[in-house]
Amino acid sequence: MASLDSLLGNAKNQHPTLPLAHLRYLLKSVTGFSLEYILGRGETEISPELILAFTKKVEDLACGVPLSRIVGCKEFWGMSFKLSPATLDPRPDTETLIEAILKTFPHKTGPLKILDLGTGTGCIIISLLSEYAEAQGVAIDINPDALETARENSVQNGVSERLRLLQGDWFKPLGPEDRFDIIVSNPPYISESDYKNLDKNVMDFDPVQALVGGKDGLACYQKIAAGFERYLSPGGALVLELGYGQEKDVLRMFSPKNKNEIKTFKDLSGIVRCIVVIPVF
Ligand code: GLN
Repeated sequence: MASLDSLLGNAKNQHPTLPLAHLRYLLKSVTGFSLEYILGRGETEISPELILAFTKKVEDLACGVPLSRIVGCKEFWGMSFKLSPATLDPRPDTETLIEAILKTFPHKTGPLKILDLGTGTGCIIISLLSEYAEAQGVAIDINPDALETARENSVQNGVSERLRLLQGDWFKPLGPEDRFDIIVSNPPYISESDYKNLDKNVMDFDPVQALVGGKDGLACYQKIAAGFERYLSPGGALVLELGYGQEKDVLRMFSPKNKNEIKTFKDLSGIVRCIVVIPVF
């Protein structure tokens, strides 16, 4: 037996560079205690099995396994999302898309129809459905395992009754009558050459299918550009996440002859992370 405090103290001594907050988070996931309990009742003794489980997770963290992959979930837009090997780990940068949509569609009570392409964990569409209480969503992913994770996340976050999940390639699973006010996507946008130089923590834990967008990273934007207008309602908007430095190429693709109205949004690092395309019908 050992107390919560002594376990944390030992882990910090052995791995001084690991943030104490991350160690507490691991202890929370192993014991099921709240952070308040761990902070306030450090003298609580825990069983040898839990000590072993905690020690193993600390070793994983020290070896560079992302915290979210160890605990199996990640916070996004104030909600918790379960991860699976088939899904991308939701990134804070992607919250820029939610902010851009809230600015573009400020009336939260309208019966919006929203489509999320390449939904992964479902973090984007589930966050939007939680913001727009009357909205209906469709989420598409090519990977059935990702869709199952998105389904579980929609149940856990209380929006499953307003979300339809479809398996397939980009727009293919949609019917000829389907129309949306918002089409959103965080497509795979890393080029094949950049993929080789990615951080090991990304390469080892995020699925390649969710990351790489063809040779130049632009292949998925091309597929979206070819299909989106047909599925947008009049006045609707396409909202896309961009990779670093892709602004020019993507703008050129979505505003042929300056036909569409375009807005861009920066992330917290000041990088253009999102474009909103509003076709002028
Ligand atoms: N839509 C999901 C996210 O933003 C997955 C994106 C992807 O797999 N490229 O996290």
